[in-house]
Amino acid sequence: MRGIKPDPGAPADRGSLEKAAAEICAEVQGRCLLSEPLSRHTSFGVGGPAAIYVYPADKAALSKLLMLCHDRSLAVLIIGYGNNLLVSDDGFAGCVVDLSSALNGMAVEGNRLTAGAGVMLNDVIRCTADHGLTGMERLAGIPGGVGGGMSMNCGAFGAHISDHLAELEVMNPNGEFMTLAGSGIEFGYRSAPGLADKVVLQAVFQLDGDRMDNVNRLIDETVAERRRRNVMTLPSAGSTFKNPRGFSAARLLEQVGAKGMRMGGVEVSPLHANFIVNSGGGTAEDIVALISKLREKVYKRFNIDLKLELRAVGFDYEIDA
Ligand SMILES: Cc1cc2nc3c(=O)[nH]c(=O)nc-3n(C[C@H](O)[C@H](O)[C@H](O)COP(=O)(O)OP(=O)(O)OC[C@H]3O[C@@H](n4cnc5c(N)ncnc54)[C@H](O)[C@@H]3O)c2cc1C
Repeated sequence: MRGIKPDPGAPADRGSLEKAAAEICAEVQGRCLLSEPLSRHTSFGVGGPAAIYVYPADKAALSKLLMLCHDRSLAVLIIGYGNNLLVSDDGFAGCVVDLSSALNGMAVEGNRLTAGAGVMLNDVIRCTADHGLTGMERLAGIPGGVGGGMSMNCGAFGAHISDHLAELEVMNPNGEFMTLAGSGIEFGYRSAPGLADKVVLQAVFQLDGDRMDNVNRLIDETVAERRRRNVMTLPSAGSTFKNPRGFSAARLLEQVGAKGMRMGGVEVSPLHANFIVNSGGGTAEDIVALISKLREKVYKRFNIDLKLELRAVGFDYEIDA
């Protein structure tokens, strides 16, 4: 842990936050919660309160919400299903936007599948099987939604969610809509630099046709392979670190004896050295301390600086410096 990096744009004082919250709750259509514990919305089960937590009713409400936040310099966090988030124990001093109830439509036309940002990726994959569409089977079992998946460019077994992306509907931070061609968006390894600051609304995937039983077989094989590699019963956020070029993060961690290392209520999974699990009452502080320890060990032994795959939110210092 080095450096100081506060959340950009967070209002300076509690008074202006409360004023902004009151305005947002009055003006935006949708459910609006104050001081909502983010531990309820993250797979790690950690994270302090969000000053404002909004489920906008539809795209128009989302646009209005983003404009209000933009005008008030209020920090915004778009949340999917929270499977890749490490939220600080202090929470998030801004507005968390949850699209799971507004953008959850899915449709298939020929070989094109359209899914809203709030649709769960596993429902998309089930739908490809029902329509005999191939191309996304290797993503089966990745928890989370289409919006979070696009933002992370999630993937497994060499496949990425961006592989068959034809079009993406997005919104700018000032509430404007636009449609981007999939081929024109820059994606990286577990990252989407071309989507920085954009809210993903809807994705269109162009897939190939295949027999339903072939698609189903590959999905079943993928899920079975995932189960075999990492049986996960405890809360986690999946892989903690990205694989450094040419190396497996899990392998490096295993070699420094990471498996089973504990810090407060969290530990490195004894089954997968790149998974930190909350084994009971763990805090974000425990996770950050364990991350520091693991990075230090790998750096000392291999001179490799592991970079976080999960996204850290609400910290007033840089974790991934
Ligand atoms: C047990 C387990 C296994 C996992 N295995 C894998 C794996 O094999 N491969 C893999 O890639 N990942 C894996 N993950 C990580 C996680 O499932 C993926 O990163 C997933 O895509 C996150 O989706 P989410 O909806 O939960 O996103 P969140 O965690 O809610 O958000 C992730 C990021 O996306 C942003 N975001 C969310 N929605 C939007 C939107 N609509 N517009 C713009 N930005 C948005 C958020 O601000 C955040 O920065 C695993 C996690 C767990 C817990």
